[in-house]
Amino acid sequence: MYDKVQLRSCLLQTRMALPVIEWRQKSDDICSHLTNSQLLTNAKTILAYFSFRTEPDLSSLFYDSNYRWGFPRCVGKTMSWHVWKPGDSTNTGAYGITEPNSDASIIEPNEVDLILVPCVACDHRGYRLGYGGGYYDRMLSKTEWQSIPTIGIVFEFAYLPQLPIESWDKPLQNICTENKLVLSAE
Ligand code: ADP
Ligand code: MG
Repeated sequence: MYDKVQLRSCLLQTRMALPVIEWRQKSDDICSHLTNSQLLTNAKTILAYFSFRTEPDLSSLFYDSNYRWGFPRCVGKTMSWHVWKPGDSTNTGAYGITEPNSDASIIEPNEVDLILVPCVACDHRGYRLGYGGGYYDRMLSKTEWQSIPTIGIVFEFAYLPQLPIESWDKPLQNICTENKLVLSAE
């Protein structure tokens, strides 16, 4: 069994070596699965991410102004979530990740209908491998976030039967790859 550090490095290498044309096509296919899902169409406020290190690119979705989109800023060990729409300014934040301005309106957990979670890998149980910061584990361990639907976003090559997990790892409810949207049985 690979440990998390090796797996992360191996899967990131594979992802970053994807030809741009494949990355674009797979990202567009993920967006289509999402726009066809009631999880999305029934939502109003959706938390997402700006593609970093060849994460699946969801940016075409952000132009749909039927939704209110929120994006994270890493502040110490936590994320704060802010409203952002195309045309609003961004900064480069911690880890080199694009983020909304600190003066953009804050989104509180009770306003959120759906969370799109970037993943280095996911497994068939919903467990997630991130970059190693534990940001989403810390967030999803809090009661105010626990009942909000989540969709892990991952390319199919990194959707694996079983990842190594630790006591603090929080599973996601649903997973979307370029091939399919896997909904939780609930
Ligand atoms: P990732 O989920 O980003 O792949 P890990 O699962 O390896 O990263 O977690 C990284 C760190 O985050 C761990 O050292 C762990 O101690 C910390 N962490 C995760 N969840 C919590 C939590 N609920 N409270 C405090 N620390 C946490
Ligand atoms: Mg984790």
